[in-house]
Amino acid sequence: MPSMPERTETSVVVSPEQRPNSWGFGDGQAIPWEYAPAPEARDIVTLKERYGLFIGGRSVPAAGGATFTSIDPSTERPLADVAKASDVDVDKAVRAARRAQRRSWGQLSGRERAKYLFRISRILQERAREFAVLESMDSGKPIKESRDVDVPLAANHFWYYAGWADKLDYAFPGRVAKPLGVAAQIIPWNFPLLMLAWKIAPALAAGNTVILKPASTTPLSALLFADVCVQADLPPGTVNIVTGPGEIGMHLATHADVDKVAFTGSTEIGKKIGRGVAGSDKALTLELGGKAANIVFDDAPLDQAVEGIVNGIYFNQGEVCCAGSRLLVQESIAETLIDKLKDRLSTIRVGDPLDKNTDVGAINSKAQLEKITELVASGVAEGAELYQPACDLPERGYFFRPTLFTNVAQSHRIAREEIFGPVLSVLTFRTPDEAVEKANNTRYGLSAGVWTDKGSRILEMVSRMQAGVVWANTFNKFDPTSPFGGYKESGFGREGGMHGLHAYVRLEDR
Ligand code: NDP
Repeated sequence: MPSMPERTETSVVVSPEQRPNSWGFGDGQAIPWEYAPAPEARDIVTLKERYGLFIGGRSVPAAGGATFTSIDPSTERPLADVAKASDVDVDKAVRAARRAQRRSWGQLSGRERAKYLFRISRILQERAREFAVLESMDSGKPIKESRDVDVPLAANHFWYYAGWADKLDYAFPGRVAKPLGVAAQIIPWNFPLLMLAWKIAPALAAGNTVILKPASTTPLSALLFADVCVQADLPPGTVNIVTGPGEIGMHLATHADVDKVAFTGSTEIGKKIGRGVAGSDKALTLELGGKAANIVFDDAPLDQAVEGIVNGIYFNQGEVCCAGSRLLVQESIAETLIDKLKDRLSTIRVGDPLDKNTDVGAINSKAQLEKITELVASGVAEGAELYQPACDLPERGYFFRPTLFTNVAQSHRIAREEIFGPVLSVLTFRTPDEAVEKANNTRYGLSAGVWTDKGSRILEMVSRMQAGVVWANTFNKFDPTSPFGGYKESGFGREGGMHGLHAYVRLEDR
């Protein structure tokens, strides 16, 4: 049995061999804390050896027969082969969606559409564990997040928009809401099933048909969702799913027979899509990157704020467009808050995404891990001070330690660029004006957070933040009824709530 680590006045000193899996608190100090493994069983998921495209209600191989492999980022092992669509397949999917829009789905009453959406929501609830396990295997996110956040919220979105399907007259009083037609939807890898739900649920509620392109590193939950469409008896062609490289996304977005394009992903690709559809009459919504400020005033409840900061940046490995990646702390409490944050960081458990105790899972891909590593190195090179807790990382897989940077200047890359990883940059401010100035000093404008005891200060700060969503004394809270979207280079258009429905209808006079 290994001997107990030696403790000093301020911290615990352990040799690498003695280092435990996790850390806990004792007498206000970090102490080693062993957690027994609590892995979620994988056998609820039946992986197919090969997945086809979902076009016209059927699984079909790609026209050229090509495939690519989706891997488990926590083990680097292959999970399944997936059809690699080409432009020919995309054209076929658009034809299937147009046919369904004209002949079946587009002809149904709102009441009938609602029944299908309620049914999809129920099936997602019934198969929730299967979806959660598959999502964690394919994306690397901890099971407690896919189980408690992604899957329930996805089901919730279908439920919420099912409620609107037969009430469009109430959503848009005095106007007639008509579907736009065929929607091309391109989604990223950080919340694969949830982004699918954000896109598909409002589109179908309003009477559109869709072609969805999932990210290449996380196609499997979308392909399992194809099963749900069949199980719900959705008219063939209402939902089509094409998997393949980014280029087919551009072919899809610019296709002449597509009426609406909805994209979530990087600002760079969002801009390309914007240029691609410019000059056409396609409706477009873009949900892009972010570099959110999480602002903590000296009157904030500090322990609560620490939890909010941790949730803001280490939730989903920080691979969140609205992550609170810049912490702005009022100078008078900076030292105390950073000490508390470091203590809290030492209790975060990094490891197997399928372990129910895991807080931070695997980074989604090798490329993303390299991007995070490179940006963190730039932070060190530019003079910021790095802190990482002494946690073990699994030997295989794409893992990164929760990271905290102090002494960060506004000019540092880690303060300006979207890292999309578990990396927090701490800056300080003295006055509310300085906090606003620093928070808005970014090309992005997706979200922000304010921590203070004063309601009046919350209202004042919220009105001055150039961000689509501002959380007060909380962070990363999502609800289907609440609109979400950005300013500036974070994109335009809103998803969620009635605003999200608006993006899928053409309003005509009565
Ligand atoms: P991308 O923007 O490249 O990917 C998002 C989606 O767009 C994927 O489905 C992707 O397909 C598709 N896509 C890629 N190229 C094109 C194209 N030319 N035309 C149309 N669609 C395309 O993000 P990455 O995965 O490359 O991540 C890069 C960075 O983007 C991250 O490090 C992060 O900073 C940011 N990001 C932001 C997200 C957000 O929600 N704001 C989400 C994801 C990433 P495929 O997977 O096949 O390439």
